Amino acid sequence: MSPVFDGHNDLLLRLWLKRSETAVQDFVAGDGKGHMDLPRMRSGGFAGGLFAIFAPNADDPPLDDDNPNPPAPLELPASPALTATIAMASLLVRMARAAPKDFRICRSAAEIRAAIASGAIAAVMHMEGAEAIDPGLKALDVLHESGLRSLGPVWSRPNAFGHGVPFRFPSSPDTGPGLTATGKALIRRCNELRIAIDLSHLNEKGFWDVAELSTAPLIASHSNAHAICASSRNLTDEQIRAIGQSGGIIGLNFANGFLRPDGSWRNDTDLGLMVRHLDHMIALAGEDHVGLGSDFEGARIPSGIGDVTGLPALTAVMAARGFGTELTRKICSDNWISVLERTWTA
Ligand code: ZN
Repeated sequence: MSPVFDGHNDLLLRLWLKRSETAVQDFVAGDGKGHMDLPRMRSGGFAGGLFAIFAPNADDPPLDDDNPNPPAPLELPASPALTATIAMASLLVRMARAAPKDFRICRSAAEIRAAIASGAIAAVMHMEGAEAIDPGLKALDVLHESGLRSLGPVWSRPNAFGHGVPFRFPSSPDTGPGLTATGKALIRRCNELRIAIDLSHLNEKGFWDVAELSTAPLIASHSNAHAICASSRNLTDEQIRAIGQSGGIIGLNFANGFLRPDGSWRNDTDLGLMVRHLDHMIALAGEDHVGLGSDFEGARIPSGIGDVTGLPALTAVMAARGFGTELTRKICSDNWISVLERTWTA
């Protein structure tokens, strides 16, 4: 079984939304809900990954997965964003406290490698959408000291920093204006603090703004190839090439609606299609610049995977399609750890 270091999951959001005092114990003992908990991570060979803190707007209509063009998500004010962010960061801290031998928050590539070598799951604190961060970026200092090592400035809604890409199919990712002046200041500060910058929910103009400004490798933690699935959330060939040239990474998103050429969210998606995206992205970015970005707990995924215990089904299809041991290892874990190391120490 090839260990997986994964670019994106929304487990903290699922646990937070339980609004339960037992959420941390539920994770440790395994609640069998959603896509992941500690026992299922173990059984699927999940070695670690980026754990997203994502603050939803409670007034957004429930996501209708059958609609490839849902209404644009509402903006989120700073105050509820900060409350939710602190709560989810606290959950991550408590998960590590509750199971210190099994689950660790990692702040460097050395800590990731040491955690995995000792058999613990290596968790990196990531934020998806920077609504909780004030324009003076003071909260960023505090979050960084708390372990934050990766940040997506914008989710799929506008905020003070820029304009996220709304979910549209079929659509180009070129859906509106790019970063604001405050957004550019955030990128510079992330470069100074060596916080990875995630481009997955930025629109195309925002992507190229970061490409021009940032000194770090370009990272799209959970996105796919627009040439195969024409979702606004996927990346053009030119963007995928730029990620490779920067020494960055694109993580394969397992979400049906970002994989399937028909844009549907049906979960009878052929796992061979996932390998088609991988092949396409490897051809453009290079085999050192593609990884996995499951979007576990954040999207409807192929039934052939089902949940985190289904990761070996994906690697089996990769093997059947000619991915050798070394390439599989790069795609499943090593490329992510290397790009984080370059980002955090450059
Ligand atoms: Zn996302």
